[in-house]
Amino acid sequence: MGLDFSYSIAIAEELGNINCGGIPMAIGVQSDMATPALARFGSDELKRQFLAPTIAGDVVACLGVSEAGAGSDVASIKTMAVRKGDDYIINGSKMWITNGCQADWMCLLTNTSTGPSHKNKSLICLPMKTPGVHITKKIDKMGMKSSDTAQIFFEDVRVPCKNLIGEEGMGFIYQMLQFQEERMWGTASVLARMESMIQETIDYTQQRKIFNQPLLNNQVVHYRLAELSTEVELLRSLLHRTVALYIDGNDVTKFASMAKLKAGRLGRELSDSCLQFWGGMGFTNEVLVSRFYRDFRLLSIGAGADEVMLSIICKYMGTLPSKK
Ligand SMILES: Cc1cc2nc3c(=O)[nH]c(=O)nc-3n(C[C@H](O)[C@H](O)[C@H](O)COP(=O)(O)OP(=O)(O)OC[C@H]3O[C@@H](n4cnc5c(N)ncnc54)[C@H](O)[C@@H]3O)c2cc1C
Repeated sequence: MGLDFSYSIAIAEELGNINCGGIPMAIGVQSDMATPALARFGSDELKRQFLAPTIAGDVVACLGVSEAGAGSDVASIKTMAVRKGDDYIINGSKMWITNGCQADWMCLLTNTSTGPSHKNKSLICLPMKTPGVHITKKIDKMGMKSSDTAQIFFEDVRVPCKNLIGEEGMGFIYQMLQFQEERMWGTASVLARMESMIQETIDYTQQRKIFNQPLLNNQVVHYRLAELSTEVELLRSLLHRTVALYIDGNDVTKFASMAKLKAGRLGRELSDSCLQFWGGMGFTNEVLVSRFYRDFRLLSIGAGADEVMLSIICKYMGTLPSKK
């Protein structure tokens, strides 16, 4: 059970045509961020209870990994679930949770023992209406404003042990696998928006007359847009190759990290270059290009910052200094 991944990526590319980053992101959380581990490792009962209604769009899911003190360093999360009879009692908090203000359930990464930090974590399906779950803050962001982002606290939250996804202690590994789909999905979701930003800029600079000619006639403008368009096609090729390898059952951690890194960097470069050609209009909230400029900034931070992607790529290249 779960969405076929090639279908999922096609939807992500299509969703990019909705010229607003927050809506695709909220949907991506449902299909490819909070649910891949459940689809792959969850019991049939858990899939019936949480996965099927999520994929059908009847309930809203969120992913609870990051904490105020642990974003890039996922292994250092502090949230703790302690077994008591047939239940886990959960205490701790989560930060930056997309869909968090409206979610029906959370795919929660929590410590379940005090062992080594890569072996002491588990993923648990946590219904958000459970007593002790406190949504304390809707975070005011510079972009992605149509997607809600929450800070959430857990105070003696009681969840049945049968809500555990897969095996106890495997949560860190499951989450690292789950991140691969999130990173491919994130890349797919920005391609169409990048293209529409280039097209909008072509349209604008064609009709905008400066020094008695369309702005687009300046070689610096049309060459730059051609360069950016080439970069988008290269990113699309990398993504499609990565998705094909993934569907064939390969480990795509290196390629998914490269795609996510490039998507974040190209998003920033492209939105900055396009905005420049809009002049003062680009600095207003009346045009799409300024919204993209703000929304795209997230991609170099969320789902693992650029530097985290670089360290993963270096690990696969064998160039990361070993920790003594
Ligand atoms: C709008 C939004 C939505 C989000 N949605 C979710 C969600 O739904 N669920 C969830 O769990 N999390 C979510 N996140 C959290 C996101 O994944 C984290 O913000 C991200 O992982 C970075 O963690 P941090 O903010 O704690 O930054 P930090 O870990 O404090 O890192 C700060 C900066 O340090 C730098 N850095 C990090 N590691 C290294 C390194 N090894 N070498 C050099 N520099 C480094 C990077 O530039 C990084 O940006 C969301 C965040 C935002 C902003």
